[in-house]
This record gives sequence, structure tokens and C-alpha cells, in this order.
Amino acid sequence: MSSAPPLPDWDRAVVKVGSALIAPDDRGCSTTHLLPIARFIIESRRQGKEVILVSSGAVAAGLAEQGRTGPGAGLSIPERQAFAALGQPLLMAHWRRLFDVSCAQVLLTYDDLQRRARFVNAKNTIAELLDRGTLPIVNENDTVATEELKVGDNDNLAAYVAVLAEADLLVICSDVDGLYTADPYEDPDAERLPVVEAITDDIYDMVGGSHRAVATGGMRTKVEAAEKATDRGIDTVLVNGTKGDHLDALGRGEMPGTLFRRAERPLSARKHWMLHALPAAGRIVVDAGAVRALRERGASLLPSGVVDVEGPFAQGDAVEVVTLENDDAPVRVAKGITQYGADALRRIQGRQSHAIAEVLGAAPTDHVIHRDDLVLTRPARS
Ligand code: GLU
Repeated sequence: MSSAPPLPDWDRAVVKVGSALIAPDDRGCSTTHLLPIARFIIESRRQGKEVILVSSGAVAAGLAEQGRTGPGAGLSIPERQAFAALGQPLLMAHWRRLFDVSCAQVLLTYDDLQRRARFVNAKNTIAELLDRGTLPIVNENDTVATEELKVGDNDNLAAYVAVLAEADLLVICSDVDGLYTADPYEDPDAERLPVVEAITDDIYDMVGGSHRAVATGGMRTKVEAAEKATDRGIDTVLVNGTKGDHLDALGRGEMPGTLFRRAERPLSARKHWMLHALPAAGRIVVDAGAVRALRERGASLLPSGVVDVEGPFAQGDAVEVVTLENDDAPVRVAKGITQYGADALRRIQGRQSHAIAEVLGAAPTDHVIHRDDLVLTRPARS
């Protein structure tokens, strides 16, 4: 661990604990791994820091409550939702026993994070709970969230919560020592990366699926979460929550896992929301000249660079901007708010801006996406 960087200073952390730690033997809530995590939280709070816990395990606890042991894979959606409803109070009671402070249950859906008014509402509630010195314990509201409107995994949920709560640290407790160059369960040569300076496609290439059925996430969702958090200037740590000494080291400001370093130039709140929370309604395929203009000159997207439109989408919708390099799969370039719907855009694609009025009868704007409504995606920012 000597080459590891120290843990950056922090004041407010979101600590995410996965099902693998809460229900390690697929038999519902266990305290085996939670005591060292609770100790880390208590010690951090004693130092005047603020902590928000994001806890999985509702489905696992619900399954155990109903006498169903074994992994939760293969459940129907209503079954998963029912088991989450049964398990959530058990999960809260389980955590509550470990703390002397009041614990507050906060259940969120994707809608709460994506819609401005609801986002602000959730943000204010969490701020109030922290002001009162309580410990907010967050989970996805699995019982009501429909499949299309779910965050889906608690790694990404924790990143959204970290953004919402303006945390400066996200700690993801898992059952591996950090991010490895390959799956350490399968490849004995896999090496742990103590620090990841930027989340590039190479990092995504390293991560595969989950090795446990009861958890929704895997290493990929942890990297996605780290990308969301670091993009907003939040350092992210992946730590082995099954090892008490690793958590104690974290409490001393050491870095026993993998540190994903926060972006040097974080995205604004609006651009972060556009890139990471707003669902894309369609795609605009652009040529190499447009890619250069967007990436190198920070230009707006003009109709002349558009080569294909994959809709339907309307004016004001969020769309992905992609390019086809060497006839390969589309490469993401940017995301933004389009000024033209898909049908209108198809008619003006490849044309100069001054031709817009001629073709459409009116030209509300000379660009398709204004530079202020556009955010570049990886790998250009790495
Ligand atoms: N919200 C789910 C639960 O509490 C877990 C999702 C996840 O493990 O990522 O069971």
C-alpha cells in the first residue's frame, strides 16, 4: 500500500454498502461486515464530518424474511418489488442498532433525481437531516419505481446522492480490494490500481459483470458511479468493506483501495445533469469535421456536420451526438439539447445554416445544438 496516494481531505461523504456485505451468505441481514463500516461512520462523525449512507439489501432481507434463501436472481418484477417492501424496514432496523444517532430513511427514484423540482426537494430534505445531526440512510424506492424509471443499481444511486448532497467524497464498499486490471476471481495476474486519474474507455474495458447474483451492480456500475461523481468534482474510493483494517485505514486518511480522482475541471451542475441524468431521446450522427469543431473549438453543432438522425425526438429534447469512426460502432462525442426535432433536422442535415429558412420556411436558430447546451463526453475530456 506504500505507493497508494493518501485519501484526499473530505467533509461530507456518501458511503455505499452493497448487498454482498449486508447479506454475505444470501441469508438476509448480517452484522459480519457492518460493524467496521459503522465504526468508520461513527469515527468520521466524531471528527465533525458528515455522512450519508446508501444501503442495498432490501430485496435480500425480504427474501430471507419469507424463508427464501439463495441468490435473488430470476425474480419477477412484482416479486422483487414485494421483497424490497418486506425487507426495507428490516434493513433500517438492522442499521439502526449500530448507531446512537437517529437514522432517517430516504427512498428515492430516478424521477426524483432527474426532475428539477423533485431534485431540489430531496436535496433540501437531506440537508435538513444533516443539519439535525442525523444519519440519512438512502435506498432506491424499489417498491414503486417502474423498470424504465429506475436508477437500477445502488452504485449509480450513490453517485447521484453524492451530487445531490454536494458531498466531496463517495466511498463504495464492496467485497474486492479495489479496481483490478482483470477480474481477480478469475485471473491470478490481475493487479489492483491504487489510483485512477481519469475514467477512460480503457478503464471500462477492464470491468466485466457481477460475480454475485443478489447484487444488481458489478464492477462496471462502480466505474459508472465513479465517473458520475468525479465529473462533478467528487473523489471516489472503492474499498473492501469485508476487511475491517481497510476501513480503519480509510478512517486514518490512508487509501487502501482504489481512488478515482475528481476531475480537475468539474462539470457545472447543469451540464452534469444534462450528461448524466437527462435521458437521451435520440441520436444525431455527425462527421469528422463536426467532431473536431466540437472538441477542439468548443463550437456549436451546425446542420452542415449532421450526417444522420435517429429519432423520434422533438425540439428541446436531449440527444446524443455520435460519430462513426472507420465504419465501427458509433462513438459518443457529446450530449446536448437540440433546437430541431428529428423530422426537421433530417431535412436540413448536411446543409449550410443559411439554407435552413429556405428548406423549413423559418430558421429559429442557425445551429442544431448551442455550445452552452452541449457537453462533451469521454474520451475527449480524459
Ligand atoms: N435497491 C436494492 C436493494 O435494496 C439493491 C440494488 C443494488 O444492489 O444495487 O435490494
